[in-house]
Amino acid sequence: MIKIDKKESCCGCTACAAICPKNCIEMKKDREGFRYPCVDEDKCVECGACEKVCPVQKQEEKTCEQRAFLVQYKDDKVRLESSAGGAFTAIAETVLEKGGVVFGAAYDEKFQVQHVYVENKEDLKIFRNSKYVQSDLKNTFCEVKEFLKNNKYVCFSGTPCQLEGLNSFLGKKYDRLIMVDVVCHGIPSPFIWNKYLEYQKNEIPKVDNIRFRDKYFGYKYSTMSFVKDGKNLYHAGSQADPMLRAFFTDICDRPSCYNCPAKKRYRVSDMTIWDCFSVYDFDKKMDDDKGTTRVLCHTDKGLNVVEQIKDRVNCKEVSADKLVAGVKEMFESVKMNPRRDDFFDDAQAMTGKELFEKYYPITAKIKIKTIIRKTLLVTGIYGTMKKILNKARGR
Ligand SMILES: Cc1cc2nc3c(=O)[nH]c(=O)nc-3n(C[C@H](O)[C@H](O)[C@H](O)COP(=O)(O)OP(=O)(O)OC[C@H]3O[C@@H](n4cnc5c(N)ncnc54)[C@H](O)[C@@H]3O)c2cc1C
Repeated sequence: MIKIDKKESCCGCTACAAICPKNCIEMKKDREGFRYPCVDEDKCVECGACEKVCPVQKQEEKTCEQRAFLVQYKDDKVRLESSAGGAFTAIAETVLEKGGVVFGAAYDEKFQVQHVYVENKEDLKIFRNSKYVQSDLKNTFCEVKEFLKNNKYVCFSGTPCQLEGLNSFLGKKYDRLIMVDVVCHGIPSPFIWNKYLEYQKNEIPKVDNIRFRDKYFGYKYSTMSFVKDGKNLYHAGSQADPMLRAFFTDICDRPSCYNCPAKKRYRVSDMTIWDCFSVYDFDKKMDDDKGTTRVLCHTDKGLNVVEQIKDRVNCKEVSADKLVAGVKEMFESVKMNPRRDDFFDDAQAMTGKELFEKYYPITAKIKIKTIIRKTLLVTGIYGTMKKILNKARGR
């Protein structure tokens, strides 16, 4: 029977709950808002399936031949709504065109992040843009299996640990399943996300979308944005917006993120997608500040999908070694912020406003820096500086 003695050894992938033949494992939230399996011991028959399926327990990394691409969706509207170059939309469309279904992370009406599936191209917009909050996978692994059993094409997208969980749960490869994972920095707590929504409570009721990675100032400097009818009501970058600051200072990630077993080059997915801020290092013509996705194919199936999207994207094949070189987020876990425990303790007692004003106050210095940054952005100097910095960091 699965027992989580150490929180860092569970990534919350739901594989154990999905495989249980007695349906006696429930994913329950802890005080930090992350879900963990809880076994109903009266119903458990000790079959051991839950322990065997856990992807954290059975780590292996098989190498394979990889091919790599830079991708930009041709329709600018789609590209600008996406975090990077909109490759995910193009990949998903190929599956829908075959009558398939696409799973991904979307908001519900209260901006809670959950995994759902869509069957129409118009609905793909709900998946666009990264949500820096751990999504509730619900019963999606079982739904995927059911669709596959009925011979449907399925595309499943998510964080690398979610894909490892799905792969382990399915236990075999399916020709009609396209697995897409993102390179993931780390995944913040839904509880802290709700504290942020409370902090922003005057704005949230007015908006119909929240973009963690809005391109209001272009791709090189994305902002947290609140959107209503396509109009931008609020935007603040990673030096000012408290949720982005919490995300980038690694104060509220899932415990397993600090020793992430899914950070590696060779993955169980068919393709891995992530950002390419240094596109000028590959092709100067592609550097238009609207976003580029790096696509690393691990399987022939992934490669086939790239062939199928070529009419709707600008696509350039590049060296796989060069694509992954210097990509820290692919290989290294984030370091735990030393204030993490205090942050979560305070979060139990404080309002969202009190919490974020204590840990991420918007000081006069930040305000001045924001004005300077905006000026640099508008004049184009920011882009040049970022290029030099990225080069120095080898990215
Ligand atoms: C939590 C998180 C951390 C990331 N960290 C990095 C990073 O450090 N470096 C980097 O280069 N790229 C990172 N990415 C990936 C990057 O932000 C883009 O998602 C990726 O480049 C694809 O962009 P796109 O324009 O092709 O697709 P988009 O249209 O932006 O598609 C978004 C995709 O991400 C999935 N997704 C969104 N939110 C979640 C979520 N909460 N949980 C699971 N899946 C989700 C959707 O299902 C969809 O498949 C991260 C993504 C996420 C979700």
